[in-house]
Amino acid sequence: MKKELSKETLINHNSYTPPAGFRSYAEPVYRGSTILFRNLKELRARFGLNRDGYAYGLHGTPTTYTLEAQLAAIEGGNHALLVSSGLSAISLVDLAFLKTGDDMLIPDNAYNPTQDMGRWLARDFGISVRFYDPMIGAGIAGLIQENTKLIWTEVPGSITMEVPDLPAISRAAHAKGVVVALDNTWSAGLVYDGFAHGADVIVQAVTKYQGGASDLLMGAVIMKDGDLFRKVGMARMRLGMGVGADDVAMVLRSLPTMKLRFDRTGASSLIVADWLKSRPEVDKILHPAYPDCPGHEFFKRDFTGTGGLFSFVFHEKYTGEQIDRFIESLTLFGLGYSWGGTHSLAVPYAISDKRINWKLPQKHVVRLYIGLDDPQDLIADLEQAMAKM
Ligand SMILES: *Cc1c(COP(=O)(O)O)cnc(C)c1O
Repeated sequence: MKKELSKETLINHNSYTPPAGFRSYAEPVYRGSTILFRNLKELRARFGLNRDGYAYGLHGTPTTYTLEAQLAAIEGGNHALLVSSGLSAISLVDLAFLKTGDDMLIPDNAYNPTQDMGRWLARDFGISVRFYDPMIGAGIAGLIQENTKLIWTEVPGSITMEVPDLPAISRAAHAKGVVVALDNTWSAGLVYDGFAHGADVIVQAVTKYQGGASDLLMGAVIMKDGDLFRKVGMARMRLGMGVGADDVAMVLRSLPTMKLRFDRTGASSLIVADWLKSRPEVDKILHPAYPDCPGHEFFKRDFTGTGGLFSFVFHEKYTGEQIDRFIESLTLFGLGYSWGGTHSLAVPYAISDKRINWKLPQKHVVRLYIGLDDPQDLIADLEQAMAKM
């Protein structure tokens, strides 16, 4: 009979328990697929959606629960669920609330992959998807059908930045029992109270300001109501959506500075936008904080601050090639998707002919994200690039 464990067995079982009482500001990183139970009774009792314990690494660890609680608190909600990207948070909401035969409404200025997900559900899954004018307000009541189950909103909309009247849309939706989902990524949940303005479910692309360094992807769905949480939570479990603890730890490290970063990018964006507005080449500033921006009155009414992402349009006489030359002449602004990190970014977008309520003759907009660079350096960069147009 063998008395002692072999070396390979020995090193496979960690028998050391460190002394209790260690405290630090850093959240511990708990990694785990397998979560150990003390006995069969405990194993048989666990259910992945309950947040008072642990069932399987996919469904949650102390590390992921901590970030979920933080994100829920920022938004004024009671529950949050982490997923692998902002887009997967959006898809999760679609799959949680829609089935074949249902109808969904999406604003036609929504994040393009949100619209594309809707088109896929319509084409292959028997769900009716209709696109609406983001400035429709209370008029949305006229679009709600018997089978309408979900209305998406974005405040402000991606790229063209219209600020919708979410309270009016939500009142009309709730009068007919329709769930209102809000993509609140622009404000990071810091300066727009989505639940107070009528959203039932809020989505964040944690990739943006929460991650804060352009080095990870994550999304979150946030809810106030326990029944909605269980509905979205069951869909998340069935789809097998989860996140890695190391990425979560990086977000937890960035989160305490998020408001400082957000406010700084917002203040710098106004300095850059003011300069753009003074230029003869520029026609309109599509920044929610500017009167040029459709829905500016709702920004003034509903927001308590501003972020650093906005768009502008050149005068009509400038061609797409000239605008491309302007973009490619920029040196401090990176050319790339996503935003919310420390670096400034610029992307040109073509406006779709299908837009319901695009009133300008221009078909091109430039979207800028103002990072933590000195705005005067960014202005100098924009000026030299305009000279090359
Ligand atoms: C970036 C973005 C998303 C998607 O986030 P990812 O993490 O990149 O998938 C969703 N909505 C809005 C408004 C965004 O800007």
